[in-house]
Amino acid sequence: MKAMVLEGIENYNLREVPKPECQPHGALLKVMANGICRSDWHKWHGHYSKKYPMILGHEIVGIVEEVGELTTRFKPGDRVLVPVSGSDGTCDMCKAGHGNLCESYLVPGIGYAGGFAEYVAVPYADRNLELLPDNVSFEEGAILSCRYITGFNGVVDIAKVKIGEWVAVYGCGGVGLAAIQTAHAMGAFVIAVARKQSSLDMAKKMGADYVISARECDPVEKIKEITNGRGVDVAVESLGNKQVVVQCFNSLAKMGRLLQLGVTQDGPEGDASIPINPLVQGELQILGSLSGPIQSFKPLLELVAAGKLDIKPMLTETVALSQVEDVFKRMDKGDTLGVIVCNDFTH
Ligand SMILES: [Zn+2]
Ligand SMILES: [Zn+2]
Repeated sequence: MKAMVLEGIENYNLREVPKPECQPHGALLKVMANGICRSDWHKWHGHYSKKYPMILGHEIVGIVEEVGELTTRFKPGDRVLVPVSGSDGTCDMCKAGHGNLCESYLVPGIGYAGGFAEYVAVPYADRNLELLPDNVSFEEGAILSCRYITGFNGVVDIAKVKIGEWVAVYGCGGVGLAAIQTAHAMGAFVIAVARKQSSLDMAKKMGADYVISARECDPVEKIKEITNGRGVDVAVESLGNKQVVVQCFNSLAKMGRLLQLGVTQDGPEGDASIPINPLVQGELQILGSLSGPIQSFKPLLELVAAGKLDIKPMLTETVALSQVEDVFKRMDKGDTLGVIVCNDFTH
C-alpha cells in the first residue's frame, strides 16, 4: 500500500509499505480521510516523538475492511471514525472512564502506524472506533476525531461553561474554532482572539460575538473593555504558547477558569509564568484537558448529525497524500486556515 513515511526529522517520503495486519481484537480500515494536524507538524519537525520510521496521522476516518475474531461491534463495510484517544481498557484511568488518559498511549500515528496511508490496523477496535452517522462526511469525521473533540470536551466537560457566561478563546485554528462553536451553542458570549483577519472572519462564522485582533491591540485590555472591566468566566488557550497562557490567565474575572488545550514545548522552555496572588485572591482555576474519552463522541456525533453543530465551514481544503508535506511547510509560515484534510490516497 501507499503511505507517507517519516524516516527522520523532515525526511518524509511517499512509498510502498506492507499492508498492516488485522489483530484478533482489532479492525483493518481502508482510510477515506485523515486531517493534517499541528501535532503531525510537530512530529515532522522532531519536536517530540522521535520514533522512525513512522506513519503519522491520527485524525482517521475509514471503511472497515476486515475485523478480528474478537471484535463484535463492527463489520466490514461500516463507516467509522477513529478517536485520537486510543486506549486498551486495562489501566486504572480506562476503568474510571478516562480512556483519553490511558497508560497504553494507543494513539494512531504514535502508538501504532497512523492514517497517512491507504490502510490502518486499529487495535482493540470495539473500544477504539465509533460509527460515523450516514449524513456526516468522511472529511467532517476527520475534523471531529481530534481537534473538534478537544474543543468540545474541554468546554463542555472540563470548563463546564454555563449559559450567559463570557468565554474568550485565544487562537482560531481547528481546536479554537471548535471551542468557539461549542461555547456559542451552550449559550455563552464568545470573544475570539487571533492574529490573522481570515481566522477572525472564520471565528465569526462559527459563532463568535466579538473578535479581537492580537496584532492590533492588547487582547487582555480589549477583553476588559468589552466586559466592563470584569474579565471573562472562561479563557481557552488553544495554541500552546506560554505567553498566551499568561494572557488567558490575565483575562479572567474572579472565580474564572483557564482552560488549557494547547500543548507547549517539553521541559522548562514550555513553562508559563502564572501570577500567584490573583490566583488566590480571585479563586481562579487552571484546568488542563486532553482530547476526550470515547464516550464524549456519542453526544458530539449526534449533535453534528442533527445539524445542531455545523462544522462544514471548518473544512477549508482537501489534498492528496503526496501533498501533506507541502501543508506542513505552509504551517511553518502560518499560511493555513481551519482544517485541511487528506482524502486522496492514490498518489
Ligand atoms: Zn490532531
Ligand atoms: Zn488504559
